[in-house]
Amino acid sequence: MVGNMYSGTKPINELGGECKHNCLYCSTKWFRFMYPASREKYSGEYRLFEHELKKNHNNEKVIFVCGQNDIFEESVPDEFIRRIMKRSCERNQDILYVFQTKNPARMKDYEDLLPEIYILGTTMETNREEYIKEFSEAPSIKSRMDAMIELQEDGHPIFLTHEPLFDFDLEEFVEIIKKIKPDKVFIGADSKVYKYPKIYNNLVLPEPDAEKILALIEELEKFTVVEQKSNLPRLLGDSQ
Ligand code: SF4
Repeated sequence: MVGNMYSGTKPINELGGECKHNCLYCSTKWFRFMYPASREKYSGEYRLFEHELKKNHNNEKVIFVCGQNDIFEESVPDEFIRRIMKRSCERNQDILYVFQTKNPARMKDYEDLLPEIYILGTTMETNREEYIKEFSEAPSIKSRMDAMIELQEDGHPIFLTHEPLFDFDLEEFVEIIKKIKPDKVFIGADSKVYKYPKIYNNLVLPEPDAEKILALIEELEKFTVVEQKSNLPRLLGDSQ
């Protein structure tokens, strides 16, 4: 997950345990390696951190819920999700809540627990299902697309994040994104795997070339707002 979607975003981490989507590129692996407290917190079974739930975050403008985990992963207990959502409704209702998951089909079960201001999003690294299967155990792109279309049709504000961006088929990828009608998309590159090969067992991600990324941005800007993440220039090189 990525906690810096909007400027000034505060990631909060009320859910501990190891995310079962098991994305090979997950940035939480890096946190677990670097910080003993993170290693403990994001290992083992899912559990709630009561002291985190108690925090009011009164001075925050944007909160990213479960920055190092996926709140809607299929096996997260329903009771945990309800408690986290309920707390978001009890805090200052001027805060924008960002909920991001690779299992957006489960978001629909909690529509009645959303705070006043929120945005719902999913990650779409690529349109290529074979890459999703190779690098993650998260639900397919098709399942994410179907759920996001439903959420959009229900009137929820939605975003997509293409980070880490994998290689893709331009026409097909743009068609998928167009069907979802996101209010905003973020495009970003991997920022951990290439830098820390030992932590990631020398994993090599299938990254697209600059020309293809620029073509994607050009197509997406025709129908939505595109924000390029600060880690994208590594892939764009001199062609920006
Ligand atoms: S869904 Fe997010 S938190 Fe879970 S393994 Fe994948 S990148 Fe990590």
